[in-house]
Amino acid sequence: MRPETANFVAWFVVGVLSLSLLIFGYAGMTISQVREEYEERAVQTTSNLALALEREIAGVVASSDIVLLSVIDEVARQQADGGIDARMLNAFIERQRWRFPYIDGIRLTDARGVLRYGSEVRADALVDISDREHFKTLRDRNENDLVISKPQRSRANNKWVIVFARRMNNPDGSFFGMAFIPITVKTLTRTFSEIRVPKSGVIALRGEDMGLIARYPAMVAEDRYVGQTTVSPEFRELLAAGKREGTFHATTPLDNIQRVLSFRKVADYPLYLIVGRAKDEYLDEWRRTVSKSIAMLSLFFVITLLLSLLVLLYWKKLTRATDSLERMAHTDFLTGLTNRRAFLEIAELELGRARRYGKPFSVLMLDIDHFKAINDSYGHEVGDKVLQKLAMLCHDGLREVDCIGRWGGEEFVVLLPETEADSAAEAAERIRVDVANSEIDTGLSLPVKLTLSIGHATLSAADKSVDELINKADEALYQAKNSGRNKVVAYTYSGG
Ligand code: GH3
Ligand code: MG
Ligand code: MG
Repeated sequence: MRPETANFVAWFVVGVLSLSLLIFGYAGMTISQVREEYEERAVQTTSNLALALEREIAGVVASSDIVLLSVIDEVARQQADGGIDARMLNAFIERQRWRFPYIDGIRLTDARGVLRYGSEVRADALVDISDREHFKTLRDRNENDLVISKPQRSRANNKWVIVFARRMNNPDGSFFGMAFIPITVKTLTRTFSEIRVPKSGVIALRGEDMGLIARYPAMVAEDRYVGQTTVSPEFRELLAAGKREGTFHATTPLDNIQRVLSFRKVADYPLYLIVGRAKDEYLDEWRRTVSKSIAMLSLFFVITLLLSLLVLLYWKKLTRATDSLERMAHTDFLTGLTNRRAFLEIAELELGRARRYGKPFSVLMLDIDHFKAINDSYGHEVGDKVLQKLAMLCHDGLREVDCIGRWGGEEFVVLLPETEADSAAEAAERIRVDVANSEIDTGLSLPVKLTLSIGHATLSAADKSVDELINKADEALYQAKNSGRNKVVAYTYSGG
């Protein structure tokens, strides 16, 4: 491979590889950016949904509380008016209840926890609910806030309910009883079930102690998970830090699915709303994009590689063609020797070198004796063969640095760098003798015998050009011919 070819190939390979690397790098960057976008979008959807659902539930709780407060006010009013009128109180309660159809009833107990007033309450039935935790809390703790129970089975209809309850006091501040509204978990979370969450998504409502109130989509029978308090450590940490809302990545303990989860405390109530999307689900589209990109890039890479290979092959072919054209331009077609034009170029360079370093050089002019006769007797084809064989003979008899050219027809010219006249004469004589003693095998008929006449000249200070020197050798050759052929003659000025 020529140096410029090697250079070209190296640069080409470097170019193609860097381009591919650049494209792959860019693709890698884009892919990770797109992943971040998917992550962000997942966080956004979960936190937006958490916000919307939190508002809804806060609304339900707040309006239930308003009902509760208005009933408590009515009780206080009747107490102040001389005592509770059960019929009037129940009528009041019923009116309130129908204004809020989603509540499951409004009921009042006395201080012992026996149901006395309200929806479907028969005072003579003496139903005792004093064992309910929220009742005990209200009875034992003289505070004014809304208490929300854990999810529990309603004793009235066996539905899962949570209870919003408030304490009622006597005018003297002692415990009068409890007013409460049970609301079915289904009612409270009715929107949850209507929302179409993506695959493996989750919406959950939890109480203060993290006890699970509702979960959508339900994974097993409610009884199996209602009240469950196991949450991920990541969530616990945020709660412990006093956060009322936030987003975290965690593996949900309940089903061992990795998710992004957003939570919100429901207003000031002891309720937490949690919305989650499965990592696998929201990254699925990203993964599909990635595999598509990788497939496209690989295709692009293979095509680039193939095209590069084609270009390289084509380029190699082209170089070879240029090389052989160049060789042809310098070479004699028949003998393979340097042609006249190329020889002159080389001689010109040698002249420059000789002048620069003060070195001599010599030129031999060779001409086959009576070559016409060879052509005439054996034919032109044999003549050609003889010319080829003679070229080889001369080449073998000379040094590597010497340059043999075909001057034209059956005439050859030899350049002997750094060679004085004596040495040139020796070389010429050696060739002459070699040729004269050789039988040239043309492979076509009998071996041919021939002789050469050689004239030679050595560069002198007077020589202005290569032409001049060659003319001198030619002149000497002319003398060799004239003086009987098969001779070596040196150019001498006096002889010229
Ligand atoms: P002299 O000893 O005076 O040099 O006699 P000569 O016959 O060699 O010289 P002349 O110049 O009269 O003839 C040269 C011949 O060389 C004439 C031509 O047919 C023959 N010749 C020149 N080029 C080629 C070639 O390429 N192939 C063949 N076969 N013959 C060639
Ligand atoms: Mg001739
Ligand atoms: Mg001749």
